[in-house]
Amino acid sequence: MNIINRVNCEFSPNKLKSGSGRIREILDKALNGEEIDVNEGVHLFGAIGDDRDRLFSVANDLRKKANGDKVSFVVNRNINFTNICYMGCKFCGFAKRMEDKKAKWLDLDKIVLLAQEAWDRGATEVCIQGGLHPRLEGGHYKSIIESIKMQLPDIHIHAFSPFEIWYGASKRKISYEDFLLELKEAGLGSIPGTAAEILDVEVRQKLTKNKLSSEKWIEIVRTAHNLGIPSTSTIMYGHVDSPHHWSAHIDLLRQIQKETGGFTELVPLSFVHKESPLFIENPHTVRPGPTSDEVKKMHAVARIMLNGWIDNIQVSWTKLGAEVAQKMLNLGVNDLGGTLMNESISRAAGSSNGQEITSKEFVEIIRHAGKIPVRRNTVYQTLEEYTNHDPIKVKPLVPRRGRKPTFFLKNNYSHES
Ligand code: SF4
Repeated sequence: MNIINRVNCEFSPNKLKSGSGRIREILDKALNGEEIDVNEGVHLFGAIGDDRDRLFSVANDLRKKANGDKVSFVVNRNINFTNICYMGCKFCGFAKRMEDKKAKWLDLDKIVLLAQEAWDRGATEVCIQGGLHPRLEGGHYKSIIESIKMQLPDIHIHAFSPFEIWYGASKRKISYEDFLLELKEAGLGSIPGTAAEILDVEVRQKLTKNKLSSEKWIEIVRTAHNLGIPSTSTIMYGHVDSPHHWSAHIDLLRQIQKETGGFTELVPLSFVHKESPLFIENPHTVRPGPTSDEVKKMHAVARIMLNGWIDNIQVSWTKLGAEVAQKMLNLGVNDLGGTLMNESISRAAGSSNGQEITSKEFVEIIRHAGKIPVRRNTVYQTLEEYTNHDPIKVKPLVPRRGRKPTFFLKNNYSHES
């Protein structure tokens, strides 16, 4: 596999101004079910004016063809068992040192308690990730899974990023395959495809000092898929990257999917700059996240490039907020992600989009967008469709200080982008 697609980029803004026929050609190809290559993807990111409208409309058409008017969400809880981490990723506002007042460590009993609380509130999944604590023993990852499964045998455990798999396997001094197999036998259901950021050597060097290289990320994800452990996929954008990185990254995910079929979805993650050392230390060279136009194009181009390979495009409400997330439902997105109950990674980076959206609120947001709400499980099987009934109302787990995430619906019956 060509891991790092050095893009022979044809794109230039001037060329695009006179080349809107080219964008129409690319979009027609997409509508005919033909594959959009990396250079074509770069062109789409540069679309302006009528071409841009057409881009959004084609993304919406492909979304409708793949998913109808159903928009899904999952009832889950995020459990970040520690934020202690010495890896020093420059974009990360979450990691703390051991002596830091905000350093956090949850023992196994506490993790099980949180999982039980989530189950009692209707969660079908717990999403577990943590920092790479320097004193963590490699066997701890398995212990977390076993402890939860002993109490809650039917909950889906979606846990441990490829960075954590790399760390656990190296602590245990065993191969990724053996480590993943151990976790699967203990009850691991799937892994988050986080820590991908942008799968490009130069960008990763700036973001993470390339500690988890693209090659290792791909190897771990591919190994998981081959063992029957599915994963999500992600792209974190809007920092030191550009459209050719985005297009190449999406193409790379598509190549992996063709080989393994193990990705359940793609989740574009906007870079949140406020508490990120990368931005704080380099405010003139690092961008403060993507523009709103780029956010829209990312979801639309992802839908178009992944058409027929990864048909679930999720929007991250923790990064964008519920109001913007709702708008993405007309730009290629068919999934709103999880209720989360305890979001902390985006908040640590400076996001202010709250910790939880309840099932009832998801249903309201989806209906207001003119779509049909569906509660799904982690691997996108439908559990409940809300055509003429509502989910049971539950109070947010953590009392809210600010507005409800559905506050915007009162003044805005939104069917538009
Ligand atoms: S992104 Fe993950 S691995 Fe990197 S510093 Fe933050 S917690 Fe540690």
